[in-house]
Parts: sequence; structure tokens; C-alpha cells
Amino acid sequence: MTTESAFDTALSQLRRAVDQLGLSENEWQTLSTPRRILEVAVPLRRDNGNIEMYKGFRVQYSTTRGPSKGGVRFHPDIDLEETIALAMLMTWKCALTNLPYGGAKGGIAVDAATLSITENERLTRRYTSEILPIIGPERDIPAPDVGTDERNMAWMMDTYSVNAGFAVPGVVTGKPIVLGGSLGRTSATGDGVAISTREALIHRGINPEGATVAIQGFGKVGYWAAVALENMGLKIVAVSDVNGGVTGFSSVKALWDHFLLHNNLNAPGTDRLSNEELLHLPVDVLIPAALADSITAHTAPGIKAKIVVEGANAPTTPEGDAVLNEKGILVVPDILANSGGVIVSYFEWVQDKQNYFWDADEVKQNLNSIMMKAFKDVEDMATGRSVTWREAAHMLGVGRVAEAHRLRGLYP
Ligand code: NAD
Repeated sequence: MTTESAFDTALSQLRRAVDQLGLSENEWQTLSTPRRILEVAVPLRRDNGNIEMYKGFRVQYSTTRGPSKGGVRFHPDIDLEETIALAMLMTWKCALTNLPYGGAKGGIAVDAATLSITENERLTRRYTSEILPIIGPERDIPAPDVGTDERNMAWMMDTYSVNAGFAVPGVVTGKPIVLGGSLGRTSATGDGVAISTREALIHRGINPEGATVAIQGFGKVGYWAAVALENMGLKIVAVSDVNGGVTGFSSVKALWDHFLLHNNLNAPGTDRLSNEELLHLPVDVLIPAALADSITAHTAPGIKAKIVVEGANAPTTPEGDAVLNEKGILVVPDILANSGGVIVSYFEWVQDKQNYFWDADEVKQNLNSIMMKAFKDVEDMATGRSVTWREAAHMLGVGRVAEAHRLRGLYP
């Protein structure tokens, strides 16, 4: 079990980056303070006529480098502290990848699986309406996260547009293509995880062709990472979801076909394994792509992978991280590894602003070049300063935000 909350962890990572960069106490104060926090009550009329109240949040952690940007999560356990922590991570992620954005996060403390489609729509629209004064293409641009998808983004775009009086596609990203979404957005985070995995293997002198991978989480990130890695010639040996894992499937495509039909991973010929057994498989690469805190002081000692690529946000606790470092396991940190999603979100926003849409190859090429640049920056910083890749990524992200603060100065 972790002894720190996601917020404490994010704050201590920031403190370390501030110290390593030699920034001042004034800069620490500025960087450790979220700019704007909105907590809203979101009433929902259930299909049976009952009215229930849910808590919603939107945190704009930073707007220094541009409009804030970040996902909307529907999950029963989210609270304000965790939302601030995730908004902080988005800030460093956007700066690390040199996107002209600050960082944000939001969501509703609700289990989306308990909502009918009509209830989900009413809740999404009411939440959008409550946070409407602080979002917009030039202010803050939400996107999908755990428990939300392109359907929620379509409802958010429509609610905002109806209030504006005209269509405003650039208010959210991760939309359906016909509403101004970008080709390649659905698979973007997984594609970026795959690029990070390939480059980390090359860095460690391992041939990606035939390298073995285990993936925890078979959702939007885990599934698309598996598809991209398989296309690159790697071997996905195990995947899991909330109900546990499987090994022994012939291909990711075959497993997905079974999942679509039966809503479980138990395809014929596969063997079951627990989520902990998956974490401890003797593979080249382990990809946690589910929720936070899966690699802990308890689970890290048994990890045999040579490389951990963090598809999820904050999947490793500080205690787990210390164990991985002691064992000499290379960790590609979340703010680098899963940045593909926000990078293609940025492309979507640019295309919406220009009303000019790119083909899929252009999206993939531009994603690859931004990811490769960020990867190289982190690799060079880690080597040059003899720090971990997580520390290097935070130093780059935090350093760029601090520089933007310095150059803008303080008003008044
Ligand atoms: P998702 O809801 O689509 O998928 C989550 C997957 O994890 C599902 O397969 C679920 O069954 C599985 N899961 C949940 N609890 C689990 C557990 N205890 N053990 C094993 N598996 C479990 O969510 P997603 O969009 O794929 O996001 C996953 C992570 O990646 C989150 O941390 C999210 O913040 C992060 N992330 C997502 C994106 C994106 O573009 N979707 C971008 C960056 C980061």
C-alpha cells in the first residue's frame, strides 16, 4: 500500500524537480499552487424519476503557457485532491512535449457503468453547463479520460455550442470525426506508448522485434498500445482488465474479437492469471495501463521486466518507484509515455481552429516526431544529469513552465 496520496506524490515530485533545477522559493510557491479550482454539484434525474446529486470538479492547474488542457474522468473514487494532482501532471506533460497548453483535469465522482445512456447524457450535459463559464477553445479544453469517451465529448461540444449559438468544435478534443475529431486520436495514447516502448528497448540494446510485453488494462490505452506493438513486431504475452488477466492468445486482434462478442477475455485456448501474476511475468516490458497505484512496495519486488512503460497516469507509487530503481529497471514515466493522447488532442484543436483536416499519415508522422523529440530530451537529461527518467521528465516540464512564468512576469 502507498503511504502517500496522488497529491502528496505529485507535490514531492515537483519539490524534487524545483530543487534539482535550483529554482527559488518564490518559484516553488508559484509552481505548487493551482490557478483555478471549481467544485460543482451535478444533479441527475434518473430514468425512474429519482433525483441524485453528484460532485463534479474542474481544476485548471496552470494557464501560463496557453489554455489549460486535460481529461474528464467519471469514476466513483475521484476527489478534489486527486484531480489537482492529475491537473498538475498534465501541466508538466504539456510542457515536456512543448505543446502550447497549461494543464487541467476534471470529472464527476460517479460510476459510469451504473448509468443508462440517457442518464449519462443528462449528467454530462449538466456538468458541462456547470463548468461552462471557465471552459472554451481559448481557455480550457476538456478531453476523454477514464469512464468517458467520444460520445461524452460530442454531448459536451453540443452543450457548449448551443449556449454559444454556433458550433464550437474546438471546445473539447477526442470528438467523433464527423464533429471535428482528428483521425488517429482514438489510438493516439496507445500509439505513443508503443513508440516509447520501442525507443526504450533500443536504448537498452534490446531488439524490439520479438521482444515480449505484458499489459495491465485492456481499455483505450492498453488495447491500442497492444495493437501498435503487435504491428511493430513485438509479442504481447499477457493482458488483463479489472477481472484479471489472460495469456496464451494467438493475437491481440483475436482476443479483441472475442472480447467484443462476449465482454470477457476468456478466449478459447487462453489461460487465466491474476493481475499480480501478470505484473510478475518474466517479460522484456511491463505496461501498466489501468489505474493509479498498481506498482507499489508490495508488487514491485516481484517485477522481472527490464523496462516499465507507464501507460496509466501515476501507476507507480514512490515506494514502488524506489524498488524499481534499486532493481535497475528502466521506467519510462507517465508524462512521457502516455503523452500521445494530448499530442493528438493538440492536433485536433489545431485542425478545428483552421477548419482544415489532416490525413491519418500526417497525424502519425507528426505524433512520432513530437514523441521522439520529447523522448530524446528526457534521455539526454537523464544521462547528462545522472537522474532517473522520471526526474528528467519532471525537470524538463517544470523548467519550461518556470521559464514561461519568468518571461511573462507578474501582473500587476
Ligand atoms: P479505460 O477506462 O478505457 O480502460 C481502463 C482499463 O483498465 C480497463 O480495461 C479496465 O478493465 C482496466 N482496469 C481497471 N481497474 C483495473 C485493475 N484493478 N486491474 C487491472 N485492470 C484494471 O481507461 P483508459 O482511457 O485506457 O485509461 C487508462 C489509464 O491511462 C488512466 O490512468 C488514464 O488516466 C491514463 N491515460 C489515458 C489517456 C487516454 O487518452 N485515454 C491518456 C493519458 C493517460
